[in-house]
Amino acid sequence: MEYYPAPLRRLIRLMARLPGIGEKTAERLALYLLSAGAAQVEELARGIVEVKQKVRLCSRCFSLSDDELCAVCSNPARDAALVCVVEQPGDMVALEKSGGYTGLYHVLSGVLSPLNGVGPDEIRVRELIERVAAGGVREVVLATGTSVEGEATAVYLSGRLRDFPVGVTRIASGVPMGGDLKYVDQVTLKRAMESRRALG
Ligand code: ZN
Repeated sequence: MEYYPAPLRRLIRLMARLPGIGEKTAERLALYLLSAGAAQVEELARGIVEVKQKVRLCSRCFSLSDDELCAVCSNPARDAALVCVVEQPGDMVALEKSGGYTGLYHVLSGVLSPLNGVGPDEIRVRELIERVAAGGVREVVLATGTSVEGEATAVYLSGRLRDFPVGVTRIASGVPMGGDLKYVDQVTLKRAMESRRALG
Protein backbone atom coordinates (compact mmCIF):
# COMPACT_ATOMS: atom_id res chain seq x y z
CA MET A 1 0.00 0.00 0.00
CA GLU A 2 2.82 2.41 0.85
CA TYR A 3 3.90 2.19 -2.79
CA TYR A 4 0.76 4.02 -3.92
CA PRO A 5 0.63 7.85 -4.16
CA ALA A 6 -0.97 9.58 -1.16
CA PRO A 7 -4.41 10.38 -2.73
CA LEU A 8 -4.82 6.75 -3.75
CA ARG A 9 -3.82 5.55 -0.29
CA ARG A 10 -6.40 7.89 1.17
CA LEU A 11 -9.17 6.57 -1.09
CA ILE A 12 -8.28 2.98 -0.16
CA ARG A 13 -8.46 3.89 3.53
CA LEU A 14 -11.88 5.57 3.04
CA MET A 15 -13.25 2.61 1.08
CA ALA A 16 -11.99 0.13 3.68
CA ARG A 17 -14.16 1.88 6.31
CA LEU A 18 -17.32 0.78 4.49
CA PRO A 19 -19.10 -2.28 5.89
CA GLY A 20 -18.11 -5.58 4.32
CA ILE A 21 -15.14 -4.12 2.48
CA GLY A 22 -11.70 -5.27 3.57
CA GLU A 23 -8.44 -3.67 2.56
CA LYS A 24 -8.01 -5.96 -0.48
CA THR A 25 -11.43 -5.06 -1.90
CA ALA A 26 -10.86 -1.38 -1.09
CA GLU A 27 -7.63 -1.51 -3.05
CA ARG A 28 -9.33 -3.20 -6.00
CA LEU A 29 -12.20 -0.66 -6.03
CA ALA A 30 -9.85 2.31 -5.75
CA LEU A 31 -7.72 1.05 -8.63
CA TYR A 32 -10.86 0.45 -10.68
CA LEU A 33 -12.08 4.00 -10.06
CA LEU A 34 -8.70 5.32 -11.09
CA SER A 35 -8.97 3.53 -14.42
CA ALA A 36 -12.67 4.37 -14.98
CA GLY A 37 -13.82 7.30 -17.08
CA ALA A 38 -14.08 10.72 -15.41
CA ALA A 39 -17.83 10.90 -16.15
CA GLN A 40 -18.53 7.62 -14.37
CA VAL A 41 -16.51 8.60 -11.32
CA GLU A 42 -18.20 12.00 -11.11
CA GLU A 43 -21.62 10.37 -11.40
CA LEU A 44 -20.79 8.03 -8.52
CA ALA A 45 -19.51 10.90 -6.37
CA ARG A 46 -22.65 12.93 -7.12
CA GLY A 47 -24.84 9.90 -6.31
CA ILE A 48 -23.24 9.57 -2.89
CA VAL A 49 -23.59 13.27 -2.06
CA GLU A 50 -27.16 13.42 -3.39
CA VAL A 51 -28.31 10.50 -1.27
CA LYS A 52 -27.14 12.36 1.84
CA GLN A 53 -28.73 15.62 0.72
CA LYS A 54 -32.07 14.36 -0.55
CA VAL A 55 -33.02 11.24 1.35
CA ARG A 56 -34.65 11.95 4.67
CA LEU A 57 -37.11 10.32 7.03
CA CYS A 58 -40.84 10.35 6.32
CA SER A 59 -42.43 12.65 8.90
CA ARG A 60 -45.21 10.14 9.57
CA CYS A 61 -43.67 6.65 9.52
CA PHE A 62 -39.90 7.43 9.66
CA SER A 63 -39.04 5.28 6.67
CA LEU A 64 -36.75 6.65 3.97
CA SER A 65 -38.23 9.28 1.69
CA ASP A 66 -37.27 12.10 -0.64
CA ASP A 67 -40.31 14.11 0.38
CA GLU A 68 -42.19 15.13 3.55
CA LEU A 69 -44.23 11.92 3.28
CA CYS A 70 -42.95 8.65 1.81
CA ALA A 71 -44.55 6.90 -1.18
CA VAL A 72 -46.56 4.56 1.09
CA CYS A 73 -47.87 7.28 3.44
CA SER A 74 -48.87 9.53 0.56
CA ASN A 75 -50.73 6.75 -1.30
CA PRO A 76 -54.50 7.28 -0.70
CA ALA A 77 -55.18 3.63 -1.61
CA ARG A 78 -53.36 2.41 1.52
CA ASP A 79 -55.34 1.60 4.67
CA ALA A 80 -54.28 4.36 7.07
CA ALA A 81 -56.01 2.64 10.03
CA LEU A 82 -53.59 -0.28 9.85
CA VAL A 83 -50.06 0.40 11.12
CA CYS A 84 -47.26 -2.15 10.90
CA VAL A 85 -44.34 -1.62 13.29
CA VAL A 86 -40.94 -2.68 11.92
CA GLU A 87 -37.37 -2.32 13.15
CA GLN A 88 -35.68 -0.78 10.10
CA PRO A 89 -36.56 0.67 6.68
CA GLY A 90 -35.19 -2.54 5.10
CA ASP A 91 -37.91 -4.57 6.86
CA MET A 92 -40.57 -2.33 5.37
CA VAL A 93 -39.07 -2.87 1.91
CA ALA A 94 -39.16 -6.66 2.49
CA LEU A 95 -42.85 -6.52 3.48
CA GLU A 96 -43.65 -4.32 0.49
CA LYS A 97 -41.96 -6.83 -1.84
CA SER A 98 -43.99 -9.67 -0.32
CA GLY A 99 -47.10 -7.82 -1.52
CA GLY A 100 -49.25 -9.03 1.37
CA TYR A 101 -49.76 -5.74 3.17
CA THR A 102 -51.93 -2.74 2.36
CA GLY A 103 -51.59 -0.59 5.48
CA LEU A 104 -49.01 1.97 6.62
CA TYR A 105 -45.82 1.52 8.64
CA HIS A 106 -43.99 2.81 11.68
CA VAL A 107 -40.21 2.37 11.65
CA LEU A 108 -38.75 2.09 15.16
CA SER A 109 -35.12 2.48 14.05
CA GLY A 110 -33.99 -0.35 16.31
CA VAL A 111 -35.19 -2.72 19.00
CA LEU A 112 -35.06 -2.60 22.76
CA SER A 113 -31.74 -3.99 23.93
CA PRO A 114 -31.03 -3.17 27.59
CA LEU A 115 -27.61 -4.84 27.42
CA ASN A 116 -26.60 -2.42 24.67
CA GLY A 117 -28.17 0.55 26.41
CA VAL A 118 -31.13 0.80 24.02
CA GLY A 119 -34.26 1.69 25.96
CA PRO A 120 -37.66 2.98 24.77
CA ASP A 121 -36.30 6.54 24.49
CA GLU A 122 -33.61 5.44 22.04
CA ILE A 123 -36.11 4.06 19.48
CA ARG A 124 -39.33 5.64 18.16
CA VAL A 125 -41.74 4.38 20.82
CA ARG A 126 -43.04 7.82 21.82
CA GLU A 127 -43.85 8.65 18.21
CA LEU A 128 -45.83 5.40 17.86
CA ILE A 129 -47.82 6.05 21.04
CA GLU A 130 -48.55 9.62 19.90
CA ARG A 131 -49.69 8.37 16.52
CA VAL A 132 -52.09 5.85 18.09
CA ALA A 133 -53.27 8.39 20.67
CA ALA A 134 -54.13 10.83 17.88
CA GLY A 135 -56.80 8.34 16.76
CA GLY A 136 -57.73 6.80 13.44
CA VAL A 137 -55.69 3.64 13.99
CA ARG A 138 -57.68 0.38 14.14
CA GLU A 139 -54.89 -2.17 14.33
CA VAL A 140 -51.17 -2.15 15.11
CA VAL A 141 -49.25 -5.11 13.67
CA LEU A 142 -46.03 -5.76 15.56
CA ALA A 143 -43.56 -7.00 12.94
CA THR A 144 -40.30 -6.70 14.82
CA GLY A 145 -37.97 -9.66 14.20
CA THR A 146 -38.07 -12.95 16.08
CA SER A 147 -34.77 -12.38 17.87
CA VAL A 148 -34.92 -12.17 21.67
CA GLU A 149 -34.81 -8.35 21.38
CA GLY A 150 -37.48 -8.31 18.65
CA GLU A 151 -39.82 -10.44 20.76
CA ALA A 152 -39.16 -8.37 23.89
CA THR A 153 -39.86 -5.18 21.93
CA ALA A 154 -43.18 -6.60 20.68
CA VAL A 155 -44.21 -7.56 24.23
CA TYR A 156 -43.22 -4.11 25.53
CA LEU A 157 -45.14 -2.29 22.80
CA SER A 158 -48.27 -4.40 23.29
CA GLY A 159 -48.16 -3.42 26.96
CA ARG A 160 -47.83 0.27 26.12
CA LEU A 161 -50.72 0.04 23.64
CA ARG A 162 -53.06 -1.82 26.00
CA ASP A 163 -54.81 1.35 27.18
CA PHE A 164 -55.79 2.43 23.68
CA PRO A 165 -58.88 1.23 21.77
CA VAL A 166 -56.74 -0.43 19.14
CA GLY A 167 -56.20 -4.06 18.12
CA VAL A 168 -52.63 -5.27 18.62
CA THR A 169 -51.41 -8.23 16.56
CA ARG A 170 -48.09 -10.00 16.14
CA ILE A 171 -46.80 -11.20 12.81
CA ALA A 172 -47.25 -15.00 12.71
CA SER A 173 -44.56 -17.60 13.12
CA GLY A 174 -43.06 -18.82 9.91
CA VAL A 175 -40.48 -16.13 10.33
CA PRO A 176 -37.67 -18.33 11.69
CA MET A 177 -36.49 -17.77 15.26
CA GLY A 178 -33.79 -15.15 15.41
CA GLY A 179 -34.85 -14.15 11.92
CA ASP A 180 -34.35 -10.78 10.38
CA LEU A 181 -37.36 -9.83 8.25
CA LYS A 182 -35.33 -8.76 5.27
CA TYR A 183 -33.79 -12.21 4.85
CA VAL A 184 -37.11 -14.07 4.94
CA ASP A 185 -38.46 -15.20 1.57
CA GLN A 186 -41.45 -13.28 0.23
CA VAL A 187 -43.98 -16.13 0.38
CA THR A 188 -43.19 -16.83 4.04
CA LEU A 189 -43.39 -13.13 4.84
CA LYS A 190 -46.74 -12.77 3.07
CA ARG A 191 -48.14 -15.75 4.98
CA ALA A 192 -46.76 -14.44 8.28
CA MET A 193 -48.54 -11.13 7.70
CA GLU A 194 -51.82 -12.76 6.63
CA SER A 195 -51.96 -15.07 9.66
CA ARG A 196 -50.97 -12.53 12.30
CA ARG A 197 -52.54 -13.14 15.69
CA ALA A 198 -53.95 -10.97 18.46
CA LEU A 199 -51.69 -10.27 21.42
CA GLY A 200 -53.50 -10.52 24.72
ZN1 ZN B 1 -44.16 7.23 5.49
